[in-house]
Amino acid sequence: MKTIAVYCGSSEGHDPIYMEEARKLGKHLAENGIKLVYGGATVGCMGAVADAAIDAGGEVIGVMPEKLASLEITHENLTELHVVKDMHERKALMAQYADGFIALPGGAGTLEEWFEVFTWAQIGYHDKPCALLNINDYYTPLVSLFDHMIEQGFVKKEYKDLIVMEKDAANLLRKLQNY
Ligand code: AMP
Repeated sequence: MKTIAVYCGSSEGHDPIYMEEARKLGKHLAENGIKLVYGGATVGCMGAVADAAIDAGGEVIGVMPEKLASLEITHENLTELHVVKDMHERKALMAQYADGFIALPGGAGTLEEWFEVFTWAQIGYHDKPCALLNINDYYTPLVSLFDHMIEQGFVKKEYKDLIVMEKDAANLLRKLQNY
């Protein structure tokens, strides 16, 4: 696993644990020689992952759509920055770079990005791992929703089994490396 795409909130969350764990993930990626590809912003958990990876000597690629560049404040110290036309180009380029995908806690933007690559895995467009870093049990209700969707006959059980999930960044990376 050479490059991992990380999707995460442009917010910090109320509990400081979100930013702390985001930084831990960035540090672990760098220490394991894994390149980070992310949205290219300085804000929220996105900025925390990138800053920690850069501080630990890692390589970081940012992919920023033109319209968001000023709003989310583009990171100045990235190894590579790609300014793209729109969200579609951003997601396509991130997916192209990545050997695996991780979502940290975030809002609708984070979910949208992660669910896109997850549904691509479901229909066999790729076989890269799609992981959730379940900081502070943030994604536990999503797992319950999956159980509900399976129970109600809208999701196949084997699709839920595609989700790689851990609370701790180091354990999650280990799982991804062995995927
Ligand atoms: P959020 O989780 O809502 O804070 O969003 C996290 C980040 O995801 C946003 O700041 C955007 O950079 C990005 N984002 C939001 N919507 C989309 C989308 N439709 N496609 C790609 N990236 C998005």
